[in-house]
This record gives sequence, structure tokens and C-alpha cells, in this order.
Amino acid sequence: MASSLIETLRQRLGPQGVLLGGDAAGRHVADASGANARAPLAVLRPASTDEVSFILSACSDAGQPLVIQGGLTGLCGGATPHAGEMALSLERMHAIEELDHDARTMTVQAGTPLEAIQNAAAEAGLRFPLDLGARGSCAIGGNISTNAGGNEVIRYGMTRNLVLGLEVVLADGTVITSLNKMLKNNAGYDLKHLFIGTEGTLGVVTRAVLRLFPRPLSRHTALCALRNLDDVIRFLHHAQLNLAGGLSAFEVMWDDYVNFILANVASAKSPFTEQHPMYVLIEFEGSQEKTDEETFTDTLAEAVKAGWLIDAAIAKSEKEMEEFWRIRDGVAEVLPKLAAMGLANFDISVPIGLMDRLLSAVNADLAVAFTETTRMAFGHLGDSNLHLLIASGNPADTGRIYDMVFRRVGELGGSISAEHGIGMARRQHLSLSRSAEEIELMRRLKLMMDPKGILNPGRVVL
Ligand SMILES: Cc1cc2nc3c(=O)[nH]c(=O)nc-3n(C[C@H](O)[C@H](O)[C@H](O)COP(=O)(O)OP(=O)(O)OC[C@H]3O[C@@H](n4cnc5c(N)ncnc54)[C@H](O)[C@@H]3O)c2cc1C
Repeated sequence: MASSLIETLRQRLGPQGVLLGGDAAGRHVADASGANARAPLAVLRPASTDEVSFILSACSDAGQPLVIQGGLTGLCGGATPHAGEMALSLERMHAIEELDHDARTMTVQAGTPLEAIQNAAAEAGLRFPLDLGARGSCAIGGNISTNAGGNEVIRYGMTRNLVLGLEVVLADGTVITSLNKMLKNNAGYDLKHLFIGTEGTLGVVTRAVLRLFPRPLSRHTALCALRNLDDVIRFLHHAQLNLAGGLSAFEVMWDDYVNFILANVASAKSPFTEQHPMYVLIEFEGSQEKTDEETFTDTLAEAVKAGWLIDAAIAKSEKEMEEFWRIRDGVAEVLPKLAAMGLANFDISVPIGLMDRLLSAVNADLAVAFTETTRMAFGHLGDSNLHLLIASGNPADTGRIYDMVFRRVGELGGSISAEHGIGMARRQHLSLSRSAEEIELMRRLKLMMDPKGILNPGRVVL
């Protein structure tokens, strides 16, 4: 059956559109989690929406399951092929189709890398404010399907807030073109939300209309040292008030994280001579070039005077800004080393006021269960999002560590996935963050939209 389907697809897509054997392996075997790598039966590489529609219609008729692949930077196994699946890669659909200056929108194909979109917006004197460490490799279709967060959520919201319109292809090949450009449109259901954050389980995103924003005229960055989380929260509220909507990043790092990065990332340097319990990387983007710097330094000086900051280093050049960000982004470099130590990698959220309780409970659980662990905490704390990296040194322990931490997150009413999604890796813990009724509705939606279960089967809901 697969061979006649492959022949049908080959005739329509041409040799570039269907990769088989060794050509179908390489990067298509796993997402960035690297877990459970497996070559798909074939990699299908459509060059247009019509071709995506043809593939889905043919696969639906044949009952052939597909895994959808964007830039493969996902961290929870959603884009990793399972036995018997073909991969549908959007990598040949990477055109920026239109930049509408009046509407401040950009229409792009789903395989366009995020960084190419950021650059095209910048060349037009505008800004697309989604930003994450994987910007060079991830694709906008993947960002939309995972509702990616990243560094500037505190100011611009998650990907959901940046998408105005979508074109998607349903499991049976039906094309839904809804390339809305308007911020306000309440004409019936806003169907795009069925496809944002649903990780490719309900349809394939083929094109998107994105919101663009004015480019800030100034950018100011500081690395701050603090004593504890209470002071971090006070400083956050103070910055939100005084920087009047211009607070664009508020990244918190505990000393365990910063010390590990400084010890393991050659290019990372601390501006402080002493070590401190906590650090905040704060960024302000403004539109008043003459006064922005003063606003920023005054805000920091007031926080020092109030006793919330022990110290603050303000970046005086682009180079220094990059140096500060290198500490925060250095995590990408240390992940392979941690993975070898049996890493449990968490992307969780709890209301910010409960974060200390969560960390204390996790520390106590770890101390009871293991003689020694490497544990690091950092995150987009202004968005209540905490990244926790925990390794006991024995890969066999990771399952236990996931259970332990997710149970605590569930007890505090938090989310087991703040931004990376559920994919395969978090499915069995979904009920800690979603009620039985919510999960049942997800299942019913999936069954209604993909009755043959050919799109990313088994991901998100069991
Ligand atoms: C160094 C690093 C830093 C990261 N930082 C962040 C961060 O700050 N914030 C954050 O949210 N994430 C982050 N991530 C995770 C990852 O980059 C995001 O989840 C990203 O949005 C995935 O995009 P992708 O194109 O690589 O998708 P893929 O990994 O290819 O796919 C992800 C999921 O989306 C589905 N999918 C992909 N394309 C489509 C499509 N066109 N239509 C339907 N479904 C599709 C896939 O089937 C899969 O389920 C980071 C990852 C790395 C490696």
C-alpha cells in the first residue's frame, strides 16, 4: 500500500518532493529533544498549499499517518516520526509573500525561518517581536503550532497574539484560507485558534498573516543582582510601572544556573566580581531616544535605593548587551552535557507568588530521593514561566524526577508546559494541568477534525 501511495505522491510532487531511504533520514529523524529518533517511511516536501492538500487527501484515502515537521527545534518529541509514519516537511515553503506597510502585516509561508521574518521586518523599518534562542532554525509554522513564547512575551504576548490570519489544510485535504489582516474581526468563530498551540494535531498550517510593530528607537539592557524572589517580584512590579509598557524582557536566573553557565560556556562572563543569589536580565525598549536612557537608569537607581537590587550592571554597548544575553542563552550550549547526565528538562509555570513554594517543595523531594543532583532554575519570570533543569547523574532516574516535579506543579494549580507544548514527552502528565472534561473535549475535537487519526497521531492527547 505504502509503495503505491509513494508512487502517486512522486508523480505529483516530483523527485525533490519525496525523499526515501537514506535521504529520508538525516535531520528528519528527531526534533531537538533527540529522543526516540527514527527515520520516517518517506519525507514529503510540498512546494505549495495545493501540494499539501494533495498529500493529505491521498494519505487520508490510504489511512497513511503523517508527522508534520517545521524547523525540528521542538523539545517534546512532537515532530519525531513514529513507526509507520511519513514526515510532511514544510521546508520548501519558505517565501515571504507580502509585507503590507499600511496594515503592518507580513504574509509568509509556514516553512519560513523565524529569523528570516525578523530580518525582513527590520529591513522594512518594522519589527516582528517573537524571539527565541532557536530563531535561526525554527520555522513560523512550528512557532504557530506550538504557540511559542520566548523572550518578549511580557510585552507582546505569545505567538497567538502575533497571528492575525492563517491558511491551513485539514486532514482530508480541505484548504481553509482565512488570511485575515484586521485586529478586530468577530464574524463568527475565530477558527485560527484551533490551529495555534494544537501542535499539528488538527491541521497543517501553510500560510500566516503576522502582526508587525514599530521598531523601537532605543534599547537598554542591564544585568541585576538580587537577594531573593520577593525582591525580584518587587523589582518586576516597579519596572512595569516605571517603564510604561516598554519592559521587553525580564529574565530571572538563580545562582545555580549562572554559576553552571559561567563554568561551562567559554564565552560567558559575569560583569560582577562577587556571586549573588539571583540575577535579573532586564531590557527596556523605548521610543524617546533622548530620555529613555535616563528613564531606565532612574528605574534601576530607585530599585537599588529601595533595597531590592544589590547591584546593577548597565550594558554600554551592543557587545555588552550580547555578553549579558549570552549568559541567558548559554543554556543551548550546555544541554548536551546535561543530557549525558540524565537530564529532566522542565518548562513549567505557576503563579509567580507560588514559585518559592514550588522550588522549596522540589528541593525537599530531591533531597529525600537522591544523594546528589545538579539543579538549575531560570526563566521568563515576568510570564510566570520557570525552566528547571535537573540531573541526578543516572538517566534511569528522569521518569521519577518528572513525576515528582509535575505532581508539585499540579498541586499548585500550575502548568506542566508553559511554552514548549505537550508533544509525546508530556502526554501522561497532561491531567495534572487539565481537567478530565477539558481533555475529553480535546479528544472530541481531534476525532471530529481528523477522524482517521492521520495527523500527528498520539501527540498531545492519548
Ligand atoms: C535553543 C532552543 C531554545 C528554545 N527557546 C524556546 C523559547 O524561548 N520559547 C519557546 O516557546 N520554545 C523554545 N524552544 C522550542 C522550539 O524552538 C519551539 O517550540 C518552536 O516553536 C518549534 O518550531 P519548529 O519549527 O522547530 O517546530 P518543529 O519542532 O518542527 O515542530 C513542533 C511541533 O509543531 C508541529 N508543526 C510544525 N510545523 C507545523 C505546521 N506547519 N503545521 C502544523 N503543525 C506543525 C510539529 O508536528 C510538532 O508537533 C527552543 C528550542 C531550542 C532548541
